Amino acid sequence: MIIVLKPGIAKKQETTILKEIRKRGYKPHVMRGVARIVIGAIGDELTHQSLETLAMVFPEIVESVTPVQKRYKLVSREAHPATSEVPVREHFIGGRQLHVMAGPCSVEGEDQLLRTAVAVKAAGATMLRGGAFKPRTSPYEFQGLGLKGLKLLAKARRETGLAVITELLSENHADMVAEYADILQIGARNAQNFQLLIAAAKTGKPVLLKRGLSMKIEEWLLAGEYVLANENANLMFCERGIRTFETYTRNTLDLATIPIIKNESHCPIVIDPSQGAGRADLVKSLCKGAVAMGADALLIEVHPNPAEAWSDGQQQVSLEVFAQLMKELRPLAEAVGRTL
Ligand code: PEP
Ligand code: MN
Repeated sequence: MIIVLKPGIAKKQETTILKEIRKRGYKPHVMRGVARIVIGAIGDELTHQSLETLAMVFPEIVESVTPVQKRYKLVSREAHPATSEVPVREHFIGGRQLHVMAGPCSVEGEDQLLRTAVAVKAAGATMLRGGAFKPRTSPYEFQGLGLKGLKLLAKARRETGLAVITELLSENHADMVAEYADILQIGARNAQNFQLLIAAAKTGKPVLLKRGLSMKIEEWLLAGEYVLANENANLMFCERGIRTFETYTRNTLDLATIPIIKNESHCPIVIDPSQGAGRADLVKSLCKGAVAMGADALLIEVHPNPAEAWSDGQQQVSLEVFAQLMKELRPLAEAVGRTL
């Protein structure tokens, strides 16, 4: 903690503060500037009373109290300098291989899902995405097939060998969804639903945490902290665009999160260009940018007939476009030291 004292403080007041800091279990280091005194206090907030109240308790002496340590710990690169690799069936996300998770926004039926799964697998995807429980803005829109959707995902996995990622929408579904999925997706709308994050963590399955629609990176890292703090080390962050004033795109995909998350955290970073732009015609370019910038995986919406999709039709790419995209991504991935 950095404690800045008000200018013109008397020696007696300085002594009072130093005594209080020691009393709360911290070791003060005094730095005397020309105009004011700054105190660095070393200690552990987890086991000691916080120093943040000093400014409130001694308003005539203390000007400000600022933490120097980051608020997130377990997700931080400081805590774990090596990049974490998240095991998903026979794969590892965060290692040399770039993983592509592809499939429809929503599971709509057996034929749609199976056709998509076979095609994305043939094109080089390692994981199948598909929502069985859908977080829709309107209650009158398709809400997902629920358990039937989960069973279809499991069937597609049996037939293709693809790992399955699907969204966990409610704490009540945690055990059910974990029974069928290889990765639990926490959606943008639930990114700060802390009880849901805890429930997801406790299933022991890898968790992919989308960034909330208006979430700061620090809040996102702290939300991820809930997963690690609940004894689940297998966390991935997924940037899917944030809400801005821009209207050309559904969201503004923040690719700067790739180097930022890599710098701040040891957890892999996944990019979702589909929700990110809300436009199928931008998916290819955004994927290329993400791969060039070091994304560990991509989450892409693919549908056999996007025009007839039950959700997010405007942003899903066709099977043909997906196959072409994978072809174009391969040399790019190699150029940045990844295999695809
Ligand atoms: C999705 O992946 O289809 C989805 C609903 O994502 P998000 O939570 O990012 O909107
Ligand atoms: Mn979608």
